[in-house]
Amino acid sequence: CGIVGYVGPRDSQAILISGLARLEYRGYDSAGIAVVDRDGALEMRKRAGKLQVLRDDLAAHPMPDGTTGIGHTRWATHGGPTDANAHPHLADDDKLAVIHNGIIENFAELKADLVSLGYTFRSETDTEVAAVLLGHEYRASGDLVTAFRAVVSRLEGAFTLLAMHQDEPGLVVGARRNSPLVIGLGEGENFLASDVAAFVEHTRHALAIGQDQIVAITPAGVEVTDFDGVPVEASPFEVVWDA
Ligand code: GLU
Repeated sequence: CGIVGYVGPRDSQAILISGLARLEYRGYDSAGIAVVDRDGALEMRKRAGKLQVLRDDLAAHPMPDGTTGIGHTRWATHGGPTDANAHPHLADDDKLAVIHNGIIENFAELKADLVSLGYTFRSETDTEVAAVLLGHEYRASGDLVTAFRAVVSRLEGAFTLLAMHQDEPGLVVGARRNSPLVIGLGEGENFLASDVAAFVEHTRHALAIGQDQIVAITPAGVEVTDFDGVPVEASPFEVVWDA
């Protein structure tokens, strides 16, 4: 239901949690975050319930922080509101993390294909199918943007999808179809979110992402393409906000 992503010089856990807090008004049943820590390992924590449950869990059992991260609040559509069904969903030996808003209409067919290839699943969500497929494609190409492009081209339905991989720290990729995603442009840091509210405390400079487009953000910049990888011009706008 709510999505935020961060790349930059700062530790990301607090940025992700406060971004998710600014999206709480939309309603949700679970929350989770993943970061690539300073040793280059993917760390993930997710909990059913309010954001406070996740905050308390992180306070009681701290997780190593890192400068690349994604965060999600879930409104369950496929699978009940449990810890296992919360996002992020991991794949490729827990080296990559995916979060998703929306519904992947053809998840059952994709899941059957992946099961026949020997993959197993840890949740009942449509989203985990995108994560496992991304892991499969990553093993083929070894390149997150290439793998992500192959995945989104096979998805039907509505999605805002974000992914990161520990072997490509400093990179978060996102895509959207029939579901919102915007870029926040900072100084040496960049954001992705389902709503500008998630990053407005850090920057008012934003870029709109069009229908069926992919974005890759690094601390140095952003690249937007269509689903075939053809570069497209994103439209800049200033966020007007009375906080
Ligand atoms: N369909 C996904 C799920 O049930 C995402 C729901 C959402 O938009 O939060 O996990």
